[in-house]
Amino acid sequence: MKNTKYIFVTGGVTSSLGKGIISSSLAKLLQSRGFSVTIQKLDPYINVDPGTLNPYEHGECFVTEDGAETDLDLGHYERFSNVPTSQANNVTTGRIYQYVINKEREGEYLGTTVQVIPHITDEIKRRIRLLGQNGNFDFVITEIGGTVGDIESFPFIEAIRQMRWEMGRNCAVIHLTLVPFLSAAGELKTKPTQHSVKTLLEQGVQPDIIVCRSERHLNESIRGKIAQFCNVEVTSVIESIDASSIYEVPMLMLEEKLDIEVLRKTNTAIPEKIDISKWQHFLQRLNNPVHQVTVALVGKYVELKDAYKSINEAFIHGGVANECHVKVKYVHSEHVDHEHLDEFLSDVDGILVAPGFGGRGIEGKILAIEYARTNNIPFFGICLGMQCAVIEFGRNVLGLKDAHSTEMNPKTGNPVIDIMSNQKSVKNLGGTMRLGSYPCKLDPDSKVFELYHETMISERHRHRFEFNNDYRKTYTKAGMKAVGIYPNENLVEIIELENHPWFVGVQFHPEYKSTVANPHPLFVGFVEAMLNNKLKG
Ligand code: GLN
Repeated sequence: MKNTKYIFVTGGVTSSLGKGIISSSLAKLLQSRGFSVTIQKLDPYINVDPGTLNPYEHGECFVTEDGAETDLDLGHYERFSNVPTSQANNVTTGRIYQYVINKEREGEYLGTTVQVIPHITDEIKRRIRLLGQNGNFDFVITEIGGTVGDIESFPFIEAIRQMRWEMGRNCAVIHLTLVPFLSAAGELKTKPTQHSVKTLLEQGVQPDIIVCRSERHLNESIRGKIAQFCNVEVTSVIESIDASSIYEVPMLMLEEKLDIEVLRKTNTAIPEKIDISKWQHFLQRLNNPVHQVTVALVGKYVELKDAYKSINEAFIHGGVANECHVKVKYVHSEHVDHEHLDEFLSDVDGILVAPGFGGRGIEGKILAIEYARTNNIPFFGICLGMQCAVIEFGRNVLGLKDAHSTEMNPKTGNPVIDIMSNQKSVKNLGGTMRLGSYPCKLDPDSKVFELYHETMISERHRHRFEFNNDYRKTYTKAGMKAVGIYPNENLVEIIELENHPWFVGVQFHPEYKSTVANPHPLFVGFVEAMLNNKLKG
């Protein structure tokens, strides 16, 4: 049984400083020193999970193996640490209150007034400790969403205050702040950091380590000033300089000795050796690509890159595996029409049609797929992207002019994509899709089998609609084959086109499983196909 240590990561001054990347980088370094680590995100908003939010709010919704719809930071945790997360790794205020209120209704607190302290804070602490309870982890890193001082984050900071008090040196608090450079003054300013630490102190929490996000290097005098005003040792003032890639951050944190500080603060013996060679090898290839391809990412949220976070990262991993830089050209599906097809798609080496919900931009996606199919351009369709490929094939190859998904047109005469039978009775929208990991059996005579090298695979899902099996024979005969099936319910999970260099549609989300250590085979294969397409000229 391990003596689990708890590390908290809070943020100050502004949001978007990269708490998720700092947490992930710390996890990577601790892992490289032989420790087992998991990372958790506590989100102060009232939604029970981010599954019902649109991507404009907090970016992509990340799905775990066990089917939790979670914050996109969990994607970073998995990509860096290569350890799967679960429902327990993302907890919102909504989930905490829902649990406590349900217990109150069941009579568990009979006779007492249910209050933020202790009932809500106890539940927060229980959720944090839960991850350490089974003794699997040396470190549980808990990132608190938002910024200190936000009304919503008070109970979380209070829970940290209590845990520090209860656990002493088995806990450490890292506070991430911004040290801005004022060009008019020509210097870095520490005042926002001082104020932010004061806010934390007002809530009873003294940070052990301060990570300073900055666009310029911190000199000794700035470090000294922050140490003095914020009651931390000067070695605990860590610089986090803007990096060209998030994957550089673990190396920057290694240089700044963030991991050593954490080990020191938690009274943990510091292992002499650190093995980070695989990560360095990845970076070496990332920074020295031999090739470059351009992929069109066709979707309706392209103005917001975070909406397709995991897809972007999976392209980086798949690119590195091919020594290839993948340039992503974002194409707004609402802007794709016959007139602009060439303008958007004639200069790309491959086309990916993104996942999504609802009808906005759907015809643009279908046109882009027709373009890929008829011009022999490598195509990768994910979830809605696969469904659109089925619709396009139905309309333009099989002559089913009204082929559609019943999501967009419930009355279509040719519902080639239809609601799953067990979804028909669903009334509540939160957490009710087909979510998480399901097995899929591959046809050994397929392109995807050559990439996975195994017959039974498992991938994560998030959808309500599926390929309509009534059309399977007709499609197969015409050259669109179902090459991956969920055996228990005979659901089509993968389609491939014959007589095309690379045309693959998947009902699941391969992007969620791609990590630095294990780039996803389908992204590796797609990049390779794009490269071949480009080299062929
Ligand atoms: N809207 C489609 C469905 O629910 C596709 C979902 C997705 O792309 N994640 O089946």
